[in-house]
Amino acid sequence: MKKLVIHNTADDTTYPVWIGSEFLEKSFGDFLALQRRQGKTPGKVVLISDETVFEHYGDELSQSIAKSGFDRLSWLMPVGEEHKNFEQLENALMFLSDQRLSRTDIIVSLGGGVVGDLAGLASSLYMRGIGIFQIPTTLLSMVDSSVGGKTAINLPNGKNLVGTFYPPLAVAADIGVLKTLEIREVKAGFYELIKHGAIGGMELLEQTRAFLEKYPLSKFPDYFSSPDFLESLIDIVFAQIQQKARFVEGDPSENPLRSDEKSRKILNFGHTIAHALEKATDYRYFRHGEAVGWGMLTALNIARRLDICEENSINLLNDVVRSVGGLPDTSHIDIDLVCSALELDKKRSQDSLHWVLLKRIGSPCIVNGDSIPNSIVRDSLSSVLLE
Ligand code: NAD
Repeated sequence: MKKLVIHNTADDTTYPVWIGSEFLEKSFGDFLALQRRQGKTPGKVVLISDETVFEHYGDELSQSIAKSGFDRLSWLMPVGEEHKNFEQLENALMFLSDQRLSRTDIIVSLGGGVVGDLAGLASSLYMRGIGIFQIPTTLLSMVDSSVGGKTAINLPNGKNLVGTFYPPLAVAADIGVLKTLEIREVKAGFYELIKHGAIGGMELLEQTRAFLEKYPLSKFPDYFSSPDFLESLIDIVFAQIQQKARFVEGDPSENPLRSDEKSRKILNFGHTIAHALEKATDYRYFRHGEAVGWGMLTALNIARRLDICEENSINLLNDVVRSVGGLPDTSHIDIDLVCSALELDKKRSQDSLHWVLLKRIGSPCIVNGDSIPNSIVRDSLSSVLLE
């Protein structure tokens, strides 16, 4: 098993991220041991998950929680991004209060980014903050959402509009659980890996590109018996989390006034369009990672029109994104709706959107939206999405 320690520079605390294979069953024991070493012993533990993930791994984890002497308390949310909303947040908070949880108790989140974001938000709000142990179960949530402490739900007006910065107490990424993930979800995760490579540099991007070439994703579950595959996947997840941690540690609360190349906003490469696409389709059509895939392609197209990105980088990144395969059809997407969603974002960010674009692989920049004519954005959207 590999371990990374993330430094939460906002309050000078740290938390571990464990990365390995087939350690879900013992992960809670490891977490408890860590808590006890720090002089903390939770009275109650509530497992938050979604119906699908719980069906696969809920028993295994709740048994191991029970073995440690805790009651089996679990709250399940319905599956899907459209449920990352106020109604489910309220249900979760009601459950915690019905169970009379106190601030010394613990939430364990078992699931993808939707569960992790909602459970994280609930834990930051309940009694002004209760500890959370994140167990991400999708590739995307392992390399991205479980690390860094951002929590959120969506509003009808936009994605992730209600949220907090609330780091977990620990994260356990067991890649063994990825064998039951649908191929579509695996692919969606790879777009976020590519995003990290695009902003992080050739070495990270090349690691993902080579992995995709060696292990075509259509056969993803078949590789889990191969030690080489497991090792490569652990290495990739480790390198990706390390990359995310660099931005998180340097700008823990995403200072809105920063626009340098180390700002945490850089992690939003591809996300301006992605969020608009998700909103324009009521959070039901795209997986988040897929929207990021289309978002990166559109951001590259914008950078090409503005002549700010090296052509080789544009071509390479286009190829790597396309090599994942399976971006959902966008020929029916209403470009006006996407532009309106962008417009709403623009109003919210005091009349100017900030775009993360690339000068070349590993060299991102933040460009003030005022310097990008609407016509360029619209033309890029049309040429990429309606091609
Ligand atoms: P998700 O949580 O919706 O999970 C995808 C699907 O896979 C769901 O149907 C789920 O039930 C199923 N699933 C999860 N793990 C499984 C497993 N091991 N086996 C079988 N099925 C499994 O989607 P996601 O892609 O993990 O997360 C997307 C969310 O993450 C979005 O809401 C996005 O905004 C958020 N996000 C947050 C951050 C952050 O910093 N907080 C960063 C990136 C993304």
